Amino acid sequence: MKETSPVPSAASRFGRSNEVGRGTLSPIGLAACDGRAPRRNAGAPRDCFVGTGEMAALMQATDWSKTPLGPVESWSLSLRMMVSFLLANRFPLLLWWGPQYISIYNDAYRPILGNKHPKSLGQPVSECWAEIWHILKPLIDTPYQGGPATWMDDIFLEVNRRGFVEETHFTIAYSPVPDDTAPRGIGGVLATVHEITGKVVAERRGMVLRDLGLRAAEAKTAKEACAIAAAALADHAKDVPFALFYVIDEDHANARLASAVGIGMGESAAPLRVLLAEPAPASGTWPLGEVVRSDAIVLVDDIDARFPATPPGPWSDPPRSAALVPIRSNTAHQLAGFLVAGVSARLAFDDQYRSFLGLAATQIATAIATARSYEEERKRVEALAEIDRAKTAFFSNVSHEFRTPLTLMLGPLSDLLAKSGDALAPESHALVAVAHRNGLRLLKLVNSLLDFSRIEAGRAHARYEPTDLATLTAELASSFRSACDKAGLTLTVDCPPLDKPVYVDRDMWEKIVLNLISNAFKFTPAGEIRIELRTESNHAVLRVRDTGAGIPAAELSLIFERFHRVEGVAGRTHEGTGIGLALVQELVKLHKGFVTVESEVARGSTFTVRVPLGHAHVSTQSDDNARPLSTATRADAFVSEASRWLRDGVLTTQAAATCTAPAGAVRGNAERARILIADDNADLREYLERLLRERYDIRAVADGEAALAVLRSEPIDLVLSDIMMPRLDGSALVRAVRADPRLADLPVILLSARAGEEASIEGFELGASDYLYKPFSARDLLARVGAHLEIARLRRQSVRTEDRLRAIFETTPECIKIVAPDGTLLHMNPAGLAMIEAESAAAVEGAPIFDLISPADREGWRACHKRICGGERLSWRFEIVGLQGTCRQMETHAAPLTLPDGTVAQLAITRDITQRLRDDEALRELNQTLERRVAERTRALEAETAERRRLQALAQQAQRLASSAPRPTASAFSAWRSPSTA
Ligand code: ADP
Repeated sequence: MKETSPVPSAASRFGRSNEVGRGTLSPIGLAACDGRAPRRNAGAPRDCFVGTGEMAALMQATDWSKTPLGPVESWSLSLRMMVSFLLANRFPLLLWWGPQYISIYNDAYRPILGNKHPKSLGQPVSECWAEIWHILKPLIDTPYQGGPATWMDDIFLEVNRRGFVEETHFTIAYSPVPDDTAPRGIGGVLATVHEITGKVVAERRGMVLRDLGLRAAEAKTAKEACAIAAAALADHAKDVPFALFYVIDEDHANARLASAVGIGMGESAAPLRVLLAEPAPASGTWPLGEVVRSDAIVLVDDIDARFPATPPGPWSDPPRSAALVPIRSNTAHQLAGFLVAGVSARLAFDDQYRSFLGLAATQIATAIATARSYEEERKRVEALAEIDRAKTAFFSNVSHEFRTPLTLMLGPLSDLLAKSGDALAPESHALVAVAHRNGLRLLKLVNSLLDFSRIEAGRAHARYEPTDLATLTAELASSFRSACDKAGLTLTVDCPPLDKPVYVDRDMWEKIVLNLISNAFKFTPAGEIRIELRTESNHAVLRVRDTGAGIPAAELSLIFERFHRVEGVAGRTHEGTGIGLALVQELVKLHKGFVTVESEVARGSTFTVRVPLGHAHVSTQSDDNARPLSTATRADAFVSEASRWLRDGVLTTQAAATCTAPAGAVRGNAERARILIADDNADLREYLERLLRERYDIRAVADGEAALAVLRSEPIDLVLSDIMMPRLDGSALVRAVRADPRLADLPVILLSARAGEEASIEGFELGASDYLYKPFSARDLLARVGAHLEIARLRRQSVRTEDRLRAIFETTPECIKIVAPDGTLLHMNPAGLAMIEAESAAAVEGAPIFDLISPADREGWRACHKRICGGERLSWRFEIVGLQGTCRQMETHAAPLTLPDGTVAQLAITRDITQRLRDDEALRELNQTLERRVAERTRALEAETAERRRLQALAQQAQRLASSAPRPTASAFSAWRSPSTA
């Protein structure tokens, strides 16, 4: 070990130096001390106590003459030099000097001594470290007696320096210190000591946590997680002498012991159950409730008092305390359990210990949480499997139960149909035929379900018989011939005889073939259906090819799943359950064969069934008692169903021809409303028609696209549409109707097989006016159709009234406005807006109207408005100030108007009377002028009249004079003309 001693600098700092005679004193490289003013301090022995540290002072103060080392003055140069070196060093150093190994150490060494310091200074090592003397002695003796220096990387020592026997670890180097004055040339031993307890313990704990982490992930249950954690801790007893794992019950009242290590489960200190609610008694149990309440680690340091037998540990003395550590759960503020960990009697329970246990509990918590989610997942899977089993059992039972009443219904119906001509009126015959056909359809479906559930439950017993498969397959395929002919499809049956018979269950093979051909028929609008049978590599291979709609690539892997159907595929009908192909697959599997599909959208599909030849793969034992459980399904059930899809198309055109007026025609009979029925099921369409045709004119189509075409070309009052239809379904039809402004208000009633509230809510969300689910009663249907037609009529009427009112509102030259009780202008017509100089309604509607009233009239206006909103009718005049500042005189006639929300507003018709008032004023002025003039004129006339009267009087007087006197002279006449001059 190479030591770079700080001595030289310390010495120079203290102004002293050690007297060192030789270049090298010890293996620890004191050469650095060498040659610095060696002689100057030779005469001051106590100068070797260099520095200002506690140890220097203590050594100064020590009366060394009372120790075996004797007075300092007697110390050899070597000893003094070592002391000064040691005191100046910051690494923990200890010198054992003389045969008794008297201890001298520096400040850095004090923590290692714990409470042994300061007594240990000058003490023989055998006393100071009495508890480990047996270990130290040989290690010190060796170098002291001339042997090699001692080096140990990790020496484990149980020392008692803090009031308890403690686990410690050190790296040590014990080196001889030469001294000329010593008998054997070695004065003592220099110990370089590095305590590594912290590091060793930390590494060990790291391993514990790693082990816990690694192993705990394997747990599948909470209990298992605890057991695995216990096993992991078993290898680390030094840190966890014993451990108990408690898991909290679901009721949170108890904790149950799940596993234990270092202590037997159920022993006194390992109670199997701990109550959490009450404060724990002082003995016999662990106070786990306190951990719940404090939500932190609780240290129990009275194990002895609590339990009669203390669990042992790896040390000679058992743990005195235990830490109760919470194990958290995934739920906030809820614990999953507790770890009760014994605290090593050899270690102090410090922060590191605490956080180690905390981390260990976290690992366990993670393991428990993972195990619990695994457990929950497993339970979920089990529950699903259980549901699946229950579902299969239910299908099986229900299908079975259905078959009896169906048989009882179908029997009498076919009897009725079979009766000769007159037994049934034609109308009734058609009705019975519908019931019979649909009964058969239901029976076929029930049979498929029953077959399926039997196979799933492992109860399907096939009877494998050597069969001429080519003939059987060709017969089955040929049963579709007439349907294909009607549909214009080419049916090619290519089934040459096979070399040998194939072992199949005939009923099952029928179902396989019929299902595949009926699908091909359903999804092939035009082209060919081809059925081939061959033998290939020891298999009978059936191929059903079609040139139909095809299946999107993404759907191919799902197509054989139960109830899986491809959305939006163009077929003859939308009917179907998605069970056919799943059943085919199961039936083929029972023959140890397999079915595959290849398909391309719009080009067609090929379904290939391969069944092994020979009989090695199937049991051919005939068991007479084994009832053939497979339900026989007649080819005609498939074919008659297929023909119905075909008839749909034919019927649609017929129905269109019989039930409708030519496209674009105006309704002839205004009394009868026209109803459009859209449904791909011909029976249902006919049934609806029959129900409605007495009251309404009916138009019927088979899909949404046709319905939309009719709606866009003919007047229709109400649509009754199925949801599931090929080409355009009911939902899309509703959307298209609502999006078309000319049709947006048309009532649409949707029909669906999906019952339940959510289904109807969905229907309404789509924009449907109403929603009827099958089966519905005739009365219900008629009532709803009637109600919706009436609503539509009223709506049309109210729209007309509203249109009229709107026209008045828009065109009248008076201002029409509605003002809310708080003065907000709600509506104003264009004339009103012009009066208040607003560019648009948006500029003023919603704003208070008071601002438009002249300040002088505002209060009066408010008062009137209040009275109107209180129920009065009023007329008054006021002035307004327009938005451009123009003042206008207004006259208003206002009445209360109840708004839809129940509040009473002011409805007013107001006219601009500014011009009228101006005209009135002008008229008044004109009147006054005229009156003045008349008065003047009158006065003038009166004066004239008076004058005339005076002149008349004068004339009469003159006449009288003349009659009594000679004729007047000319001068007399001129005097008459101008009286003034007279
Ligand atoms: P279903 O015909 O009653 O719906 P299936 O199980 O027989 O039930 O068929 C499942 C789905 O597979 C059908 O809904 C259809 O989308 C698709 N499919 C089956 N056969 C064909 C075919 N030949 N061409 C196109 N699609 C097909």
